[in-house]
Amino acid sequence: MIVVGAGLAGLVAARQLIAAGRSVLVVEARDRVGGRTVNASIGAGKITEMGGQWVGPGQDRVLALARELGVETFPTYHEGKNLLELRGRVRRYKGTIPRLAPHVLFDIARVRRKVDRAIRRVPADAPWTASKAEELDSQTLASWLRKRARTKKARALLEIAAGTLSGADTAQLSTLWLLSTASSAGSFDALIDVEGGGQQDRLIGGSQQLSQRLAEELGEAVVLSRPVRRIAQDGGGLDVEADGFKARAHRVVVAVPPPLASRIAFVPSLGGRRDQLTQRMSNGAITKCAAVYPEPFWREQGLSGQAVSDGGPVTTTFDNSPPDGTPGVLIGFIAGAEAIRHARRSEAERRSAVLDCFERLFGQDAAQPGIYLETAWAEEEWSRGGPVCAFGPGVLARYGEALRQPAGRIHWAGAETATVWTGYMDGAVRSGERAAEEVLDAEGWRL
Ligand SMILES: Cc1cc2nc3c(=O)[nH]c(=O)nc-3n(C[C@H](O)[C@H](O)[C@H](O)COP(=O)(O)OP(=O)(O)OC[C@H]3O[C@@H](n4cnc5c(N)ncnc54)[C@H](O)[C@@H]3O)c2cc1C
Repeated sequence: MIVVGAGLAGLVAARQLIAAGRSVLVVEARDRVGGRTVNASIGAGKITEMGGQWVGPGQDRVLALARELGVETFPTYHEGKNLLELRGRVRRYKGTIPRLAPHVLFDIARVRRKVDRAIRRVPADAPWTASKAEELDSQTLASWLRKRARTKKARALLEIAAGTLSGADTAQLSTLWLLSTASSAGSFDALIDVEGGGQQDRLIGGSQQLSQRLAEELGEAVVLSRPVRRIAQDGGGLDVEADGFKARAHRVVVAVPPPLASRIAFVPSLGGRRDQLTQRMSNGAITKCAAVYPEPFWREQGLSGQAVSDGGPVTTTFDNSPPDGTPGVLIGFIAGAEAIRHARRSEAERRSAVLDCFERLFGQDAAQPGIYLETAWAEEEWSRGGPVCAFGPGVLARYGEALRQPAGRIHWAGAETATVWTGYMDGAVRSGERAAEEVLDAEGWRL
């Protein structure tokens, strides 16, 4: 058995297959495991995460995996007031919803209710069967929001939320995709909330540890720095070719995001429907920035470290300090077209654009961090974007069914193929478990 990709999905699939007595090799393009989760050192043995990091209620599979691997969680710091910068004005507020004029708040609440009502009719495991699948899939999220949010401020905030979730601009996103993603998490609020939502908790020692500990368990079964280029399938099995590596397998689990999977040469080709799907799926563009200060100075000012801004380039910030609160770490996200624009600036320009933004929000103390880090996921060869691979209009309803359907002896895993918490670490874990089950079922290896 060969698993392509040593992100969470691939490693979980491999571990489950090995537990069932199969012999497995995991072939990974990068020189590290973890894919879209990666820890960065901030000194004194401490880390901050530059990729996926938060976990929350309902994310039962990633939480169970963390427990099994001995990785504990701690609550995301969110005491105090949040900040909102809108059209040059910075306000303080408490909770997920900022203090704005009542008619704007009413507008936001109304749209959130509409989303939650709509997701009840969108099954996350088969959104193409939703009663209005074609209609919802023919609208961009931008046009859907334009019709439903009456105030510009409500629209701006909802667009920022969708941008951070997807790394794409709302004009590039299918409404059906957003509803299906929210449906997979249980509600729209679950996607955006800290307390009770997907951002509630963090993993002590960082999210990449999950993959690192899985890889330790798997030992020599994980082969690094071997990008898979070609998978040829015949009646008896598959030949997998990577740079400097060749092997034959009985079945293959491809656990890489769909747009990257489509760069592998499949022989014979996978057929029109799968190809049409992967030609149209695209990764978002997200850049995650981290500034490290001696202390989380904002906490003393009664601030949570969370901010939403339309002032650019950063749209959202969070306190990402280690569990003991030292040093202070502020992270910020730059999403969509702005992330691509930002990547074209020089290193010094990028740093100063982000720190200017942090200073506008948190004051002068934010201007001079001891360490400044940035990961532009669109520039990463083996991710080519993030946080997730989303659907533009007209794709999910027509071709979505091909996302998980095995192609002969090739099985698909990865966060994008999950039906619960699609696009998240929890979804990645679930997809690895599902793909392993699929392989065992197909081979009749169950007792
Ligand atoms: C900035 C950012 C923030 C995020 N925030 C969160 C969050 O807070 N909470 C959350 O749950 N999720 C978050 N996510 C999403 C989460 O990180 C992913 O859903 C999850 O890690 C995906 O795991 P995966 O195994 O499906 O894919 P990946 O992690 O992408 O793993 C795929 C692996 O395949 C490898 N690969 C690619 N092509 C080839 C090839 N040809 N041959 C061999 N190997 C190949 C890659 O190198 C990679 O290691 C975030 C992601 C990003 C980028």
